[in-house]
Amino acid sequence: MNHLIRNILKVVTVGLMSTSMLLTGCQSSENADPITRSNLKLGTLVGITIHDSQDTQLFNILFDRLDAIEQHMSLNIKTSEINAINASAGIEPVQVSEDTFEVIQSSLHYGDLSKGAFDSTIGPLVTLWGIGSDNAKLPSQAEIDTKLPLIDYNSVILNIEDKTVFLPLQGMALDLGAIAKGYAADEMYRILDENKVNSAVINLGGNILVKGRKVDNTPWRVGVQNPFDTRGAYIGVVSISDQTVVTSGIYERFFELDGQRYHHILNPATGYPVNNNLASVTIITSKSIDADAYSTVLFASGLEAGLELANGSNEIMAIFVTKDKKVYVSDGVESIFELSDNNFILQ
Ligand code: ADP
Ligand code: MG
Repeated sequence: MNHLIRNILKVVTVGLMSTSMLLTGCQSSENADPITRSNLKLGTLVGITIHDSQDTQLFNILFDRLDAIEQHMSLNIKTSEINAINASAGIEPVQVSEDTFEVIQSSLHYGDLSKGAFDSTIGPLVTLWGIGSDNAKLPSQAEIDTKLPLIDYNSVILNIEDKTVFLPLQGMALDLGAIAKGYAADEMYRILDENKVNSAVINLGGNILVKGRKVDNTPWRVGVQNPFDTRGAYIGVVSISDQTVVTSGIYERFFELDGQRYHHILNPATGYPVNNNLASVTIITSKSIDADAYSTVLFASGLEAGLELANGSNEIMAIFVTKDKKVYVSDGVESIFELSDNNFILQ
């Protein structure tokens, strides 16, 4: 099943879930029905539901902003700023908009924080593997060896005054796939806030960001993705308000060859998919860009280092699911998370 269809199924399930949770949440009769709009953006299905306003014009503002972000940061749009930076690698710096600059800057910060396990210059390897595209393949070691010297977030040169980005070696390429959707979700939140919306759910292909609480003033209940089920099944539910839930895992995009699964989060040091005992990492925090980056960072770091990073941070909570269906949680998760699928065992 391709990535997009899987994401659509996932969004539908989350949508159904929040709707049914809302109905059981004793919605008072004076509240009008929520308004909602869905559209394909940033390579995934985006759904936004507003529960305390009937102003459907807001969707135009929200989706126009998503268009702008996509035009700036998508590798699938030929004229995007990110493609301009990549095309000028080894040649010259490229001036970009504030938002692209901010997301790149943030991606380099996560490179440091993860000691290089997160590396937004992963582009050449992503293209070589083609995981999630129709051209996915197992590259030869020789092919991987030619790409490895191009992967180095530390060598990216930013000029804060001129807002320029320079990749020093020809063939280098940025890929913001692990972080751009989080940024986009935060922008949706900001726009809703500016427009006095206080109860809403933003769903970017399964990355959830909730605004405020439900209209009955109870927290939102959001499903935590089951990494062994591509249809949006969940292992349990977290109760949150003004927070985001983002999962990275082996289920998202992968291909199989000779009984071996190759998924889409790559180890920048080896050039191969990250290989540890994790099936997924779910992050709960307030900013979606952090959740998006951290979910990839902790997945790439592995269970032990990942738990340490999560417990050392005041900002994030994390739920780790191993390939043998054990669930490990960081400090603070226990009070907001209910495990409901008894195939999984909470440690
Ligand atoms: P998704 O948003 O598809 O659910 P992630 O947020 O985990 O998944 O991001 C995975 C994407 O990030 C990959 O498809 C690729 O574009 C990029 N990527 C892969 N490996 C890394 C890495 N080690 N560091 C940063 N980005 C990566
Ligand atoms: Mg991510």
